[in-house]
Order: sequence, then C-alpha cells, then structure tokens
Amino acid sequence: MDDYTIVLNAGSSSLKFSIYVRREAAAWRLESRGQIEGIGTAPHFSARDGAGGRLAEERMDGSVRDGPSALDALAAWLRSRYSGARVLGVGHRVVHGGAKYAAPTVVTPEVLADLRTLIPLAPLHQPYNLAAIEAIAERLPGVPQVACFDTSFHRGQPAVAEVVPLPREVCRDGVQRYGFHGLSYEYIASVLPEMAPDLARGRAIVAHLGSGASLCAMKNRRSVDSSLGFTALDGLCMGTRPGAVDPGVILYLFQNLRLSAKDVETILYKKSGLLGISGISNDMRDLLGSTEPAARLAVDYFVYRAAKEIGALAAVLGGIDGLVFTAGIGENSAEIRKRICEASAWLGIDLEHDANERKGPRISRSGSRVSAWVIPTNEELIIARHTGMLLGLIEARA
Ligand code: ADP
Repeated sequence: MDDYTIVLNAGSSSLKFSIYVRREAAAWRLESRGQIEGIGTAPHFSARDGAGGRLAEERMDGSVRDGPSALDALAAWLRSRYSGARVLGVGHRVVHGGAKYAAPTVVTPEVLADLRTLIPLAPLHQPYNLAAIEAIAERLPGVPQVACFDTSFHRGQPAVAEVVPLPREVCRDGVQRYGFHGLSYEYIASVLPEMAPDLARGRAIVAHLGSGASLCAMKNRRSVDSSLGFTALDGLCMGTRPGAVDPGVILYLFQNLRLSAKDVETILYKKSGLLGISGISNDMRDLLGSTEPAARLAVDYFVYRAAKEIGALAAVLGGIDGLVFTAGIGENSAEIRKRICEASAWLGIDLEHDANERKGPRISRSGSRVSAWVIPTNEELIIARHTGMLLGLIEARA
C-alpha cells in the first residue's frame, strides 16, 4: 500500500497543508497542497494537486473559528479524497526547537512539554504549531507525529555566532542566538549541488524574504551564521517585525511610555517593520504599488537593511561566491531583487536584468564574480522527508 504523510504548518490565522505520497521505495511526491486562510474571520479553503491543478477553492462557514475547527474541516476534506489511505505520520513545522532539539524529533508528551516552554520565544508561531500537534493527537491517537524545527539547521554554528553578549547568569538557561527559517535553508542547501555546484562547495548567502525575512551565511551548505537570533525579531526588516533595533528603544517603551510587556510584544511582532514604517500595509505588493512617501521609505528601508546585513554576512564568510533569493518576496519581486543586487554590486554581483525578470534561476551575468539566483523554497518537502525517515526508522525497528 502507498504511504502518505501529512505535513502541517499551522499559524495564527492559517493552516497550510501538503499531502505527500511514496509508492514502494520511490521518493516522496507531492499529491496535493493547500490552506485554510482567514481562520476566525473569513475562512477560505483552497487546494491544488501536485501539478498545480485546482482541486478546491471555496469560502467556509463561520464554524471554522480556530485551529482545531480548521483541522476538523481539513480532515473531512482529506477523508473524502483519500479514504482508506495509510497515513504514515504527520509532520509539523515547529518554529523553535531551543538548544535541545538540534534535529527533527518524534513528538512525545515530554517533547511537547519542552516545546511549550519556548512559547515566549516565538509567540507568533509556536503556540499555533503546538496546538495543531495536540489537536492531531486527540483526533488520530495512533498516528505518530514529527516536529521539524526552524532552528535545527543552524545548530553547529561556530560559538561566536551563537553568543548573546549579556551576563553569563542571564544567558545560562538558553539565551543564545538560534536562527530561524532553517527548513527553508535546508531545502536550498539540498538543491544547490544540482543547481549551482560551485556555490554548493563555496560561500553562499541565502536571503529568505517573506512575511518573515532572514539571511543565512552558508559555507559548504552548512549554516555558519544567520540574521535572526534568540527570537525571530532580529536582523532584516519584516512584514510586521522590525528586525534589529537598538535595545535602548525597548527600554524607552517600558520606562518612558510605560507600556506593558504584552503591549511591547504586540508592537514588536505585529505592528512594526513594513507595516510600522509605512502605516499602510505589511504586504510588499501594496507598498511597491503605492506612491505614498511612507510606503517608499518602508521599501527603501527593507532594501537598505537587506544590503547592510548581506555586507555583514559577507564579512563573516570572508567574501561570497553567490547570493540566493527565496520565499514570497525573494521569489516573486524582480524589483526588490534588482535593488538588493544593485546595492550589493560592490561584492561583485552583476545582475542580468532579463533573467531577473524571468525569475532565473540564475540571474547574474555569466562573467559575474559573484553569482545570483532565484530558487523557490520548499519547506514542506523537507518536513515530509524527515517525517518519512524518522517514522520509517520506527517502523523498521518495530
Ligand atoms: P509566509 O510564508 O511567511 O507567510 P511568504 O514567503 O509567502 O510568507 O511571503 C509573503 C510575502 O511575499 C507577502 O507578504 C508579500 O509581501 C510578498 N509577495 C508575494 N508575491 C509578491 C510579489 N509579486 N511582489 C512582491 N512581493 C510579493
């Protein structure tokens, strides 16, 4: 019988899913994927098959008001489509694995308890990731689940890259730099040998530019540093998160504006970044389409910050051989890629404009000292692979 793996990426208002199938000993293949968006407001379900053909596109009723009810709705659709299929397991994207989880892991009650302690470090994602695991455990008690972490790929970085330079006693219980978007970087690292063999062996900066945004410095496909740190607030300007800010500003919010910790958390995770600067939108498409000076400043800052951090990671790597763009903005906005490449021309990037408009994959001229690329990411495939591998091992042992 074919093996199926369900991959879930549960967020605060969306539930993304992918169904992978493995026939006999073949590789994992995408069977379908989709999402429920607007959970709690205007829920909407969409699904496509592995080739991109539309399977479903519909508004859902108000009963889809939270994560568990969204999962119930998804389960009903899956049952109608795949009744009788053998589900090997469910793989989850979990944003924070802390210091303890340096690799994907099969979820047990103990693992879940550990991961709950990390909720304050990723309040925008972790509670929803874990709620999905709990909801599946209740609904499918016999089906094993695997947690795949956005932090794991970065473990093994040099010690200096992990330092948070505060007193030792403050840092004792895991206050260190972790890095995020690791599932995306792991996917890019997995395809580099085929797509860009020279870069796979060399020094690459990968720019994951989506709602959340970060850079990863890779040497020989391994992470040596990244722009996100202890939480997913550091580094680049993001949709609603500021990226790096002077910590004195945070003190000011507490001491002078007398804001509560909850208010500061909301400002940092939901009201800053592109949305904060522009006062218009957190969506890069809206900002690129706007003539408002504040929208322009937000885009200018996004590019400025990206170029500045690319320079910093180039210093870490002692120069770079290539720059890779991925995720929503990185894959789809030729304008942002162009502006970041132009701001990074001093590194030796010579952009090929037509290739950039066509989304590459290679977007630098053949003589360019540093190559530039667009590579669509695929975090779900990485989760499916890890889930299949870990659960296959359990099966082999049983
Ligand atoms: P996430 O998975 O973190 O929600 P994505 O990687 O899907 O984020 O990226 C989402 C962002 O990508 C959107 O906020 C939007 O700003 C941006 N985006 C998508 N398409 C385009 C485009 N054609 N031009 C510019 N930005 C785009």
